[in-house]
Amino acid sequence: MPDLRALFARLPGIDALLNHADLNLPLARHGRDAVVAAARQVLDGARAHIRDHAVLPAWASDAGALARRIAADCADRQRLALRPVYNLTGTVLHTNLGRAVQAEAAVEAVTRAMRHAVTLEYDLDGAGRGHRDSAISELLASITGAEAACVVNNNAAAVLITLATLAAGREVIVSRGELVEIGGAFRMPDVMRQAGCRLVEVGATNRTHLRDYRDAISADTALLMKVHTSNYAIEGFTASVSESELAPLAREHGLPLATDLGSGALIDLSRHGLPAEPMPQQMIAAGIDVVTFSGDKLLGGPQAGLIIGRRDWIARIQKHPLKRALRCDKLSLAALEATLRLYLEPDRLPDTLPTLRYLTRAQTEIRAVAGRLLPALTLAAGEAFRVDDQACLSQIGSGSLPVDRLPSWAICIEPRDGRGKTLEAFAQRLRELPSPVIGRLSAGKLWLDLRLLDDEAGFCANLAALSAAPAH
Ligand SMILES: *Cc1c(COP(=O)(O)O)cnc(C)c1O
Repeated sequence: MPDLRALFARLPGIDALLNHADLNLPLARHGRDAVVAAARQVLDGARAHIRDHAVLPAWASDAGALARRIAADCADRQRLALRPVYNLTGTVLHTNLGRAVQAEAAVEAVTRAMRHAVTLEYDLDGAGRGHRDSAISELLASITGAEAACVVNNNAAAVLITLATLAAGREVIVSRGELVEIGGAFRMPDVMRQAGCRLVEVGATNRTHLRDYRDAISADTALLMKVHTSNYAIEGFTASVSESELAPLAREHGLPLATDLGSGALIDLSRHGLPAEPMPQQMIAAGIDVVTFSGDKLLGGPQAGLIIGRRDWIARIQKHPLKRALRCDKLSLAALEATLRLYLEPDRLPDTLPTLRYLTRAQTEIRAVAGRLLPALTLAAGEAFRVDDQACLSQIGSGSLPVDRLPSWAICIEPRDGRGKTLEAFAQRLRELPSPVIGRLSAGKLWLDLRLLDDEAGFCANLAALSAAPAH
């Protein structure tokens, strides 16, 4: 039995450690409190190791080793958890990776809004219009033809406040085929309950007719609601009632009609060779009173919930007490405004809006990227893997156009030993790079879809860290 006390005695005290030359720089960089806290933790860790294993760990073998460990810990504590990654999953709007990559114009607007005081709720001309959504309301009005607009934290919030304002304590009629769940906790029936509305389901899962809505209207009805079934598709024997068919019925009964589009594409995607997606401006033209959609899906902006429609309804939503709780901060508003201004110059959007640029990137161009990166990835993967490039299909993501796929090109990495464990270990090493690389595991291969890769030089430099530090 080794003498634990003798081992404990070999650990220096805090004061002696703080005087070690290797901690001068960390002390200057992080301050005394932070270094002391890290030193205590490292020493505690060393004592625990001695108790458990009856030896001094290598990283505590002398004061120099301890100082280096403390310096590394101080630096680690400043490492951000929210880090940029290479999204090579093939999903353009990846909810877990932060959805839309922002336009340069939005980045600049946000940076300025962070550095300076801004005209958030301040009229420079003293005209007294000002609330924080007024600039965006005017922009959305000119882009979509709506009378007014209101902005909240996300589209879930947009739906919640719309329901709470238009129909609290009363009935909302929705087709059974549209009672969707979106990304875990957002289920239409639950949102209705939270907003204090009574849900009246009409039709069957696959078929709903205009008469179903008509028959359900009662003295207690406050709202007719459509929900875009963005993340799934019902195929086969189906029928649904479009917004434009529903609008006359709503008008006949003096009821408002709202539609939740999820992704509102503010331009006609079919003109860019993409599948068509319902547009907010079409809904306004069809006479819908209130239309809600996300800022960070196909629109390509920051997280936000956009509510557009008739002036009187929007004004009531603006005044609802929930608005204060759900409002956007100046950073989201700055990014959203800059993004929407890009839509005033629609011909330039494929260049100015990353989301559209990624969605419309030609397969031949992506294939050329794969050709250029193949040697670097072959080298990085090493002997244990077969690396080649192949056609693949990207998806749009965030529940937009769930069945449509975009022809793309990927680098495929396959373990020569055919073992899933070997492949997963390599995928893990890619995720541990300074800028983590995230691919997609499928059919025994790791697929790196290159649709979203812009910075080839940076990508290769990042890969170099892989060869420098082999698997541990
Ligand atoms: C995505 C989506 C939402 C939720 O939007 P967030 O901006 O993520 O809150 C709501 N409704 C539909 C139909 C959607 O597709």
